[in-house]
Amino acid sequence: MSNTTRIKNVKVRTVLVPLNNPHKTASGVITTSPLVLTDILFDNGITGHSITFTYNKIALKPTAQLIADFGQLIYDDILAPFNTFEKLSGRFRLLGTQGLVGMAISAIDMALWDGFARCQNSSLTSVLGGLEKPIQAYGAIGYDGPKESAIVAENWVRKGLTGVKAKIGYPTVREDVQVIREIRKAVGDNISIMVDYNQSLITTEAIQRSHILDSEGLTWIEEPVLAHDFSGHAMIAREIKTPIQCGENWWGILDMQQAIDKEASDFMMLDIMKIGGVTGWIKAASLASLKGIPISTHLWSEISSQLLCVTPTAHWLEYSDWWNPILKEPL
Ligand SMILES: [Mg+2]
Repeated sequence: MSNTTRIKNVKVRTVLVPLNNPHKTASGVITTSPLVLTDILFDNGITGHSITFTYNKIALKPTAQLIADFGQLIYDDILAPFNTFEKLSGRFRLLGTQGLVGMAISAIDMALWDGFARCQNSSLTSVLGGLEKPIQAYGAIGYDGPKESAIVAENWVRKGLTGVKAKIGYPTVREDVQVIREIRKAVGDNISIMVDYNQSLITTEAIQRSHILDSEGLTWIEEPVLAHDFSGHAMIAREIKTPIQCGENWWGILDMQQAIDKEASDFMMLDIMKIGGVTGWIKAASLASLKGIPISTHLWSEISSQLLCVTPTAHWLEYSDWWNPILKEPL
């Protein structure tokens, strides 16, 4: 049976979703999520949906405009996400598919896959040939100091999560350690603790701090230096015992391949919007499986949990409730 469903319309809406608790990081405070909501309508009456997160309000309208304009490029095309991904990537070969262009391609790709699953009245995991299964998840803790970090950690554990990840990068490593120890005291030894520097250090300092953190039993240390400093991360990864986690800021599988080539990160974290949507994720998961690199997720808990079920080296789901106010059925 051949697929004859066709794309009839791409609609976008922009929203600013306020966060219940402003999320502090070593690189600034996030108070709202600027989101583009994409709906792709098909000729069978079904609609596929996706969420694009622009981080900065200023990028909201240009991103929405790009996605809407992409709609004209795919009008009346057959619903075939792989084909559309290749077609759109091809159209932007000269400009490149990083940044807003890449985000717009992912927005279309995610909505097409969502629609593809809905047309079969099935989950994304199922249409990709996988089985839904339990996945370990952690909750995020902001740059909140020792006391507040411990309280947030306890709340996550009470909700049933088996890991917590704290933002660190305080003025001194002593303060970083203090935060980790307060969390450990609050959650006990059976809960995994990860930490995230959010790109706030330089390589030498990252090595010095990480040597000290090595005795804290951490599951990983995330993005100690600039996300695209692959050799810096590789140097840190070689020097320290705790695994390094990177990936949420890589644009597409080309960045991921460079990180793999340079051995920049022991673990890898995929951001579905930056890696190229569902299509990009599937390619990334294949690359990771060849090297046995554990794959975790970044935001987008709903769609990422579906994809972890078809990721051979699935590791941790980052549970996030930031966008629950606009979801009909949050995870
Ligand atoms: Mg991070």
